[in-house]
Amino acid sequence: MSMPKTSTIGYPRIGEMREWKKALEQFWKGNLSESELQTELKKLRLINLKKQQDKGIDLIPVGDFSFYDHVLDTSFMFGLIPERFKDENKSSLQTYFDIARGNKDAVASEMTKWFNTNYHYIVPEIQPEDEPFLDENRLLTYFKEAEQLGIKSKPVLLGPITFLKLAKGYEQKEFPAILRKLLPLYVQVLQELEREGADWVQVDEPILSTSLSEEDLSYFKEVYQAFDKELSSLKVILQTYFESIENYKEIVNLPVAGIGLDFVHDEDANLHSLKEYGFPENKLLAAGIVNGRNIWKSDLQAALEKLNIISSIVDKKNILIQPSCSLLHVPVTVETEKELEPHLKDALAFADQKIEEISILSEGLHKGEEIIKERLSLQAQSLDRLMNSDSRNKHNVQKEVEFWKGVEPNRDHPYETRQKKQQAYFKLPLLPTTTIGSLPQTSEIRQARLKWRRNEWSDEEYQHFINSSMEEWIDRQEEIGLDVLIHGEFERNDMVEFFGEKLDGFAFTRYAWVQSYGSRCVKPPVIYGDVALNSPMTVNEIAFAQSLTDKPVKGMLTGPITILNWSFVREDISKYDVTKQIALALQKEIKALEENNVHMIQVDEPALREGLPLKPYKQQEYLNEAVYAFKLATSKVKDKTQIHTHMCYSEFGEIMDTINQLDADVISIEAARSHGELVSDFEKTSYRKEIGLGVYDIHSPRVPSVEEIEKSIWRALKVLNPRQFWVNPDCGLKTRGVHETTEALLNMVEAANRVRERINEDIYVKGE
Ligand code: GLN
Ligand code: ZN
Repeated sequence: MSMPKTSTIGYPRIGEMREWKKALEQFWKGNLSESELQTELKKLRLINLKKQQDKGIDLIPVGDFSFYDHVLDTSFMFGLIPERFKDENKSSLQTYFDIARGNKDAVASEMTKWFNTNYHYIVPEIQPEDEPFLDENRLLTYFKEAEQLGIKSKPVLLGPITFLKLAKGYEQKEFPAILRKLLPLYVQVLQELEREGADWVQVDEPILSTSLSEEDLSYFKEVYQAFDKELSSLKVILQTYFESIENYKEIVNLPVAGIGLDFVHDEDANLHSLKEYGFPENKLLAAGIVNGRNIWKSDLQAALEKLNIISSIVDKKNILIQPSCSLLHVPVTVETEKELEPHLKDALAFADQKIEEISILSEGLHKGEEIIKERLSLQAQSLDRLMNSDSRNKHNVQKEVEFWKGVEPNRDHPYETRQKKQQAYFKLPLLPTTTIGSLPQTSEIRQARLKWRRNEWSDEEYQHFINSSMEEWIDRQEEIGLDVLIHGEFERNDMVEFFGEKLDGFAFTRYAWVQSYGSRCVKPPVIYGDVALNSPMTVNEIAFAQSLTDKPVKGMLTGPITILNWSFVREDISKYDVTKQIALALQKEIKALEENNVHMIQVDEPALREGLPLKPYKQQEYLNEAVYAFKLATSKVKDKTQIHTHMCYSEFGEIMDTINQLDADVISIEAARSHGELVSDFEKTSYRKEIGLGVYDIHSPRVPSVEEIEKSIWRALKVLNPRQFWVNPDCGLKTRGVHETTEALLNMVEAANRVRERINEDIYVKGE
């Protein structure tokens, strides 16, 4: 049997036109039956396989597809279903979606970001007393399905150690016992695949790209020795990605048939290890040579040179060329983009184009550079054209960035001084109620935007529509009784794309969607040139909303590090310089808002945490740059202007210092899904500025009761002073319906009122 030469680690699920999302949402709405959904998604899976087959990939993955999330698939496969979702009257697919989305009786499982990406997985809930079992070997089904196309696929499975490390609900000391319960089940899955005739299987252990302890390494030995012992013909590729591995020697010597390494990120750390320690003979090296995280064409010449270095150490026949990680993190194809500037479009490569690059590189490696010479030079020309374009090089922007480097951007006065002035200006009650920025993006709003984009509506008609949506919702927010209002972000499709469209240096695509969580996809802008602000981006809407009410309206901007992390970024200058360019554009926007009587401005940084490098030694630099950029954007305002920020995730403790250094006057963070864990982070520190811990989960359509919200407020007040606490939902409301949003906010305001009353009584009783 000849060895495979090319492979992919995973392929986008969503389809060229987001068919996946549409099918799922139709099913959730009740417009598709379960079997119709199955048929739709199977069609999509086969298309995805076929494309990879046509482009000449030898080893095509299955099991990378999912109905929601591959981590949830793993929990589900092993029967790890939280007690609150067990319901015999429901189909297993319904239960699966309930865990992800919650239902009327139960809150969804927590969701969090997948390593340093903007993909969210459903956090497995595992209790030490759980008895996992193999519920259904879905890989077997997918493997057989691929055989219909004559494909002998490579089933992909999330490895047991990463899976358990991402789970919650047990203590560290219980880890080995749980692992030992799972191990035989993994073996069973693999043996069944072996019996079915699979040759290769990919076991993903991205946790290897973080820093691991000796003890962790011993588990790797235990698990992979067990696989080796129990399998006879099935060959395991232990796959790592996102960054380099620290324990190179130990890992490459594990008894597996192949090792998958990222040769793109981390300044070639894996390549250095390879050079220094070599690579075991007769083992397959799955070499991640094409960047699976960005959208640029590869410098094929450089990639081929790298492959040549690798092949001076590893026998060519043992090299499997592939992307650096699953292509889940890039859009499907450049082909559908008809409106991009040619010099930009020509420099792009999405999943399908990256797969082509893999094939080309394989030819180059095996048949010699001569054969692909023409392609190499064409590709180099494409990249050069963009490199030398005017849009990429704006000298005044570059000069401004240089000017600021080394200057520490601080507010005029410390927080305490500002707070007094702000309180005197806004006169907010105890436990002010507010929301995070966006309001329901109804189909009416999406339709309106579409009409405008298609030129069926003039700018005036569209603006009129946006204004009346704001009027409607300013009224509604006043009726609900919120203290700080928002304009609702109706004019925005997405919190990053919106800014991208207005700033110089950004391009936006038509169909370049990437899955973010569940059926929700985002379309990251492309930062291809120097970033600059032409004219104000948000002043019209926010000043209009403020003119409709006496209550404060919070201005809404997306912060520099989030814009960076949620964009596809040029790679010819440091990403931190790009961040500074964005920050300077925002600084000007904030000035303009202030001049237009907007004195409460929220600068969202929900992506701050996810950009954190996986390796501890790189983290501080990143955090310093994130803080610097935030302050560069926000510090040039008056004392009375209240700067808010918002972040949505729950692992907060470790970056508490950073949060503090941002020096925002008010911060709101997601807390509801982490079931009180966050609150305990605040027990350990003394955070003094104002803060809103989300009091209910907005990722699910369920309306929380007054009592429930009241409880979470009280829980927070155990560790936070009522004078610093704000009451708000976890995140923006754009994905929610009008009715459920109104109900939930009414309950939230009522809960805040009840708590205020009790606090006032307490204060009265204590005679304060
Ligand atoms: N202001 C944004 C909104 O409400 C924040 C979204 C986010 O944090 N992801 O939609
Ligand atoms: Zn959020």
